[in-house]
Formats: sequence, C-alpha cells, structure tokens
Amino acid sequence: MSATSSKTIILEGAPTAKSIIEDLSIKIKEYTAAGKRKPALAVFLVGNDHASEVYIKNKIRACGDVGIKSQLQHYANNTDQFQIMKALAKLNGDDTIDGILVQLPLPSHLSTEEILNAIAPDKDVDGLHPYNLGLLFAGRKGLQPCTPKGIMALLADYKIPIAGKHAVVIGRSNLVGKPIAALLLQQNATVTICHSKTNNLPAICKEADILVVAVGQKQLVDKNWIKPGACIIDVGIHRQTDDQGKAKIVGDVLFDDVKSIAGYITPVPGGVGKMTVAMLMANTVFAYEQHLGVGASFM
Ligand code: NAD
Repeated sequence: MSATSSKTIILEGAPTAKSIIEDLSIKIKEYTAAGKRKPALAVFLVGNDHASEVYIKNKIRACGDVGIKSQLQHYANNTDQFQIMKALAKLNGDDTIDGILVQLPLPSHLSTEEILNAIAPDKDVDGLHPYNLGLLFAGRKGLQPCTPKGIMALLADYKIPIAGKHAVVIGRSNLVGKPIAALLLQQNATVTICHSKTNNLPAICKEADILVVAVGQKQLVDKNWIKPGACIIDVGIHRQTDDQGKAKIVGDVLFDDVKSIAGYITPVPGGVGKMTVAMLMANTVFAYEQHLGVGASFM
C-alpha cells in the first residue's frame, strides 16, 4: 500500500498478485512432491490482435511462475467455427487438461457465445460459461470471471469496507460489470449498475463510496464525478501515444485528476490487470483440485 502526498491510497495490484502467485506455487510444489501431476491450462488465440498477444504472453509467463503447464493453440484469423469447436471438444475430453481459456475478442465471423458455451464448465477458468455465471448470481461456489474476482481480492487485501457501502458500477458486460455487481452485492454493498443509457451518470457516481469503472471509454471519469474519499477501481485499458511519441497505457479514469480527491484508487497499468492474471492462475489451480478430488466440491 502506498500513500500519495494527498493521502490517497494507491491500490497496487502487483504486491497482492505476487503473494497470490507465491501461495499457489507453494501449493503446486506440495501436490507434485506428493506425486500428483502438474495443473495444465490450454489457451486459445485466434488471429493476430496485438493486445491479445500481449495478454496471452503475460498469462503464459504467470503459468510458468506458478508451476502450471500451459499450451497455446494459436489459430489463423480465418479459422472456422467447426475447427474451434472440434479442438474444444478434444480438450474437454482430455483428463490432463484442467483449464481452457479462449482469449477474447474473437474475430467477428466466429460466434463467441457458441464457443464459450462449448467449454466444459469444470474447465471454464474464465468463468464465462452460463453454468458458472448462474452459480455466481446464485451466490454459490464456482469458477468466477477473473477480473471481478481480482477486484474483490484487491479490496479484501487493502481491507476496504464493503458492507453497507454504496457501490456504483459503470458497465454491464458479462465479463466485468454484471459479475462485479453480483460479487459486491454478496458482500452486502448497495449496488447501482450504470451503462450507456443511464441518465445523470456523473451525479450517480458522485454518490458512490466504491466506484467501479468498466466502460471502455478512455479517461471518461474525472474528479467532478467523485465523492471525496471514495474508492475508485479503474478497469479500463487503453493504449495511447504521448506527446513524445512514447506508448502509454491509461484507464477509463483520469488518474491524476481523480487521485486528488479519491481516498483509494487503482493505477493503470499496475492495478486491476495484475489481479486478473493472478485470478486466472487461482481458477486453474481450483479446477485442478476439483479434477484431482482434493478441493471442496462445487459441481
Ligand atoms: P464492454 O465494451 O463489453 O462493456 C462496456 C460497458 O460500458 C457496456 O455495458 C456499456 O453499456 C457501458 N458504457 C459504454 N460507454 C458508456 C458511457 N459513455 N457511459 C456509461 N456506460 C457506458 O467492455 P468490458 O469488456 O466490460 O471492458 C471494459 C473495459 O475494461 C475495457 O477498456 C477493457 O479493455 C477493460 N478490461 C480490462 C481488464 C483488466 O484485466 N484490467 C479485463 C477486462 C476488460
């Protein structure tokens, strides 16, 4: 935890993510020392989207840090739906594979819905299969989407109070907005979900004790939207070039401006993104334990 001159706490994801990765790595060493196989994650990438390639590289590197075997299945941009479905069916039936991750977004000729539905729920380490989303909304144990799960782990690590607080979520995607709203609700926050058709958005945000911003709009939120002392979670990732032509990553929140008034804020990069990768590792180990029959059952 680091404090700025204005006493705003910067919610750094890196230390929390590192400690999660270390704990998982110790766990895997114990399992393998006891003669068990290593966990294994299969990663699907279709096409050559640069951002997706960077995310996949980070995920595969994290697998190495934890002790998870990873295999990348990289398909050409014009691969058809049938080929992907066939490859998924094979991995679903492979007892040595614990997790299957399909990197999104997929090329537009593919049906994302059909592909995500085809992943076996017990291997769905991104938590996007309707079965796992159903468990999440029912408040039951299961594989949860990595980014929302990571946000909750970050809030817990920094001991941010949630019960009784007003949490406002901007964004209603299945990947971030809806699941983070459900998780905050389960921890007894009063939750408002906002989206592109919400009226008076800044005024609603200004009432938030916890504001989760997952809109995909570069630096949309400024300090006029913020209640003094609020906790701001910036999920957005945008690549831009600064005046000197240097590449830079920014979020959905105007960081320096909002930092001057917020009580807590996640940086971009170095906040939520680090937690997303750590949660993918946690989900893969969870799925592995289910497959070995050594974890608490949820199916
Ligand atoms: P999405 O495009 O699926 O959803 C965006 C949501 O924001 C929609 O529900 C839409 O209604 C709402 N929205 C759009 N414009 C709005 C506006 N002007 N006012 C109010 N609401 C508006 O995006 P997503 O997949 O949820 O991702 C959101 C952002 O988070 C993106 O920048 C994405 O790159 C990033 N992301 C980061 C991580 C991470 O690990 N840090 C993970 C997933 C997504």
